[in-house]
Amino acid sequence: MQVKKMPQEYIKARPIINKLEQAGFEAYFVGGSVRDILLHQKIHDVDIATSAFPAEVKAIFPKTIDIGIEHGTVLVLSEGEQYEITTFRTESTYQDFRRPDDVQFVRSLEEDLKRRDFTINALALNKKGTVIDLFNGLTDLQNKILRAVGDPHERFHEDALRMMRGLRFVSQLGFELEPTTFEAIKENHNLLEKISVERITIEFVKLLLGEFRNLGLEMLLASQCYQYCPGLAGYLKELEKFAELKGPRIKEETQAWVLLLDTLQISPKQVRSFLKAWKCSNERIRTVQAVLSGLQERKEGFFQPKTLYDLGLKQALLVEELLPYYQKTSQLERVEKKYEALPIKNLSQLAINGNDLLQFFQQKPGSWIKSSLEACEKKVLERQLPNQKQDLLSYTQTLLSKS
Ligand code: ATP
Ligand code: MG
Repeated sequence: MQVKKMPQEYIKARPIINKLEQAGFEAYFVGGSVRDILLHQKIHDVDIATSAFPAEVKAIFPKTIDIGIEHGTVLVLSEGEQYEITTFRTESTYQDFRRPDDVQFVRSLEEDLKRRDFTINALALNKKGTVIDLFNGLTDLQNKILRAVGDPHERFHEDALRMMRGLRFVSQLGFELEPTTFEAIKENHNLLEKISVERITIEFVKLLLGEFRNLGLEMLLASQCYQYCPGLAGYLKELEKFAELKGPRIKEETQAWVLLLDTLQISPKQVRSFLKAWKCSNERIRTVQAVLSGLQERKEGFFQPKTLYDLGLKQALLVEELLPYYQKTSQLERVEKKYEALPIKNLSQLAINGNDLLQFFQQKPGSWIKSSLEACEKKVLERQLPNQKQDLLSYTQTLLSKS
């Protein structure tokens, strides 16, 4: 088969392939981008596979970075772009279900394609646009089928992560797992125990963000793989509900976690440990907590000024975008307007600060400063007081005289 219209990214990368060929090596476009071009989807990274060994690649191109030289990958910088160039390789004897014991560089494209996970990911494309299809990946692509390359049991034993990858491709592409591939996932799901949480999380998040999320989740449950995902084992019923959640593709990772946590009814106190188990960053955890709590308020009515202020516009919009999952309409413009209308956007915009209080009241620093500022902040946000120094100082005076 011939790709008639090569994408711009490939045309730009052609000189790279030319140079490798001129030096006497083979070079092809491989991996996800070939699949995505054939599916007429946008491509993100251009991966090139070559018969040249890493040292040979480095000798050909003036600007390179070693990013994974032990796996055969060299980053080539050219015309403002970067290309991952990986030497054809085989991965022999996986004894711990996760990492190849030994990566061997080879000169044969076929050997390289054989080690790839699914037939639709094992296609190569030469610079002229001819597809090299050694495992009937094109037919599977056409029939929307995810099929392991070779014996699925062996392939999942070599690297159990492939099972999670399979499930996330179901979610991203809406493809069906070919029956023996699916059965092999079901049978070997417990091998996921050996896989690092970080690798599982990457695939799980991609699954949650897929266009065919419900199908991907259904397969995650049917294959039992969910049992080896952090914190999900005891939640079959809730996860079934989550797999039926109606609504558009989830746009963003924080939103995905929020919808999951809300459907699983994880209590606010448990959110942190739940997300820690997935190795989420502290920043992600804080955002998820804020958006989740904003969502609880927004489900009941519109945002209070203080909530909008605490969330900030960006997070408030993340909350607002979740309403369709609760059969409500997002009112993004209304949120923006309300936010813009807030009398202050942060504490530094308050007409008084800690120093003003210290000077005015001539008291020792202490917790009274923080509580006074917060009380003023609240009054200003609720428009019960103007954001004026004199008004706020008199208000603080009445507060302090009461305490
Ligand atoms: P994406 O569009 O998300 O980048 P991708 O298919 O390109 O999807 P990558 O992780 O970028 O996925 O991997 C590039 C290629 O490397 C895959 O298409 C596949 O051929 C191969 N590959 C990646 N991970 C594995 C794996 N665990 N086992 C076998 N082959 C793999
Ligand atoms: Mg890729």
